[in-house]
Amino acid sequence: MAEPAGSGGRAEPAGSGGRAEPAGSGGRAEPAGSEGRAEPAERLGEATALRTGMCGTLGPSDAGRQVHLCGWVARRREHGEHLAFVDLRDHTGVVQCVVDGAHDLRSEYVVRVTGTVRLRPEGTVNPALATGEVEVGDCEVELLSAAEPPPFSIDGRGPDTDEVIRLRHRYVDLRRERMQHNLRLRARVNSAIRRAMDEQGFVEVETPMFVASTPEGARDFLVPSRLKPGSFYALPQSPQLFKQMSMVGGIDRYYQIARCMRDEDLRADRQLEFTQLDAELSFASQEDVLQAISHAVRAAAAAAGHEVGEIGRITWHDAQERYGSDKPDVRFGMELVELTPLFASTGFNAFRAPCVKAVAVPGGAALGRGRTDALTDFARRSGAKGLAWLKRTAAGPAGLEGPILKFLSEEERAGLPGEPDDLLLFVADERVLGLLRLELGRPPVNEGGLHLLWVVDFPLFDGVDEATGRPLPAHHPFTMPHAEDLDRLEAEPLAVRSQAYDLVLNGWELGSGSVRIHQGGVQQRVFDLLGISPEEAERKFGFLLAAFRYGAPPHAGFAFGIDRLVALLAGEENIREVIAYPKTQSGTDPLTGAPTPVDPDDLELYGLRLLPPPT
Ligand code: ASP
Repeated sequence: MAEPAGSGGRAEPAGSGGRAEPAGSGGRAEPAGSEGRAEPAERLGEATALRTGMCGTLGPSDAGRQVHLCGWVARRREHGEHLAFVDLRDHTGVVQCVVDGAHDLRSEYVVRVTGTVRLRPEGTVNPALATGEVEVGDCEVELLSAAEPPPFSIDGRGPDTDEVIRLRHRYVDLRRERMQHNLRLRARVNSAIRRAMDEQGFVEVETPMFVASTPEGARDFLVPSRLKPGSFYALPQSPQLFKQMSMVGGIDRYYQIARCMRDEDLRADRQLEFTQLDAELSFASQEDVLQAISHAVRAAAAAAGHEVGEIGRITWHDAQERYGSDKPDVRFGMELVELTPLFASTGFNAFRAPCVKAVAVPGGAALGRGRTDALTDFARRSGAKGLAWLKRTAAGPAGLEGPILKFLSEEERAGLPGEPDDLLLFVADERVLGLLRLELGRPPVNEGGLHLLWVVDFPLFDGVDEATGRPLPAHHPFTMPHAEDLDRLEAEPLAVRSQAYDLVLNGWELGSGSVRIHQGGVQQRVFDLLGISPEEAERKFGFLLAAFRYGAPPHAGFAFGIDRLVALLAGEENIREVIAYPKTQSGTDPLTGAPTPVDPDDLELYGLRLLPPPT
């Protein structure tokens, strides 16, 4: 049997009992029960041919031990005439080494230090450092690699440095405590997810990267085929069709930590390629999926030191009514207040609308005119006709102030909500009110704990395509309508609910899934409504429909985004902080320069010729 790597004939790992907190944990939650203890795999990797253990874990119990340490020079300070203090850094932290001042050791040189751990002299203990009670003395130093001066300082959290420069030198940026913490957290989360899925009988199946187009509704990335010039592979927007075919193939419970690629315009929370936990279950209901995924998400959160209890549920309809959003951030109140009946026969033109709602902003009465004007602009830019507001100075109809007050009847004033000092915002559009609620109430990403929520009973269709008059699908076309609504599929498509569900975390859509249509009859009705002709269905998903003719079990699935989950667990606003090699917001990679032009001869191989660039 093969010896585990790094364990054969090597020195005992240093400090593996009673480890100090790793340096990379700066101020963030560590996994429950992991304190003072590394993962076994990490402990195995500590001693190698070149080192006896790690820098950041040395403590008083190591005093007297001779150690070999390897790492990067974090800092050098002269100490008297002949000696220098060198802070040696590896991913576990730094330790002070006392070396001969003659060594030319500069920042980020890679060295191997051999010396003896000793307690620091009285008065020189550094309580700010995990290893601050000790130092390594009588050091011999071996230079393993010299280094150019780093393009930016490796200490500190990093927002100081321009992100493009950080990404161009990502290999240097990754040495920072923040990135070390985030990537290790991500690895723990991935392995907790895998364990949770394995425990529940899921089988990890890898699906191909070069595929035919997938129906997620974004634009495909295309890869030209050299062997079949003029033809293209699509990169998968998700493994959707393969996981469904795997159900036909008797896999029963599939999962994959899958890379997905969508050629979308980038926003702060999007990357062109991203990672999902993708899952599919046979002979399963929506409830089975929710249970299985909840288990995996709880395990992921636990790996980051967060305990998640029972995950609440809300229908899509209620989420819209109460929060003006299908991904409500329930870390704070400020729920929308229904006022349509109150204004049913109002004389105020702006409130003569099918829906009038308000939010009460606690303490908002103190906002000045500049701010209320800015909110009005915000509402207009978000698509509302306008924004009306009132300030509540006291309880009751007399305790209100504001320019619209004169248009409201006594009865209407008496029916208005709010506590003293609230600002009441009124909009005849619950979506815009939902955005205002977030704008004014949303806590920073790392505040308010983790609030997960299942949003269920999404509508099957999103609205009507003005050009064709046909309903627009809210999900992919294999989403099963709600059993109770099947009868009105053709008569009232917009009223039909689907068996589709989302998982929302602190106002972010973490993932979505659905029970799938596995019977040809229902599928045909949905295709007909969407205007997908038999020829188009055959061309786009003929292979899936063919698979279904050979014995398709009822099945259902889900996928959630790991980048966003890890970002929220790490308290990071930006998902690029939890991705080792992300693209910028313009879709480029400053490290490799991708995307890059291709040599015309290479294009020829694929049967391609470029058009002149658009002017
Ligand atoms: N394939 C879907 C997605 O990537 C998730 C699912 O329905 O399973 O969003």
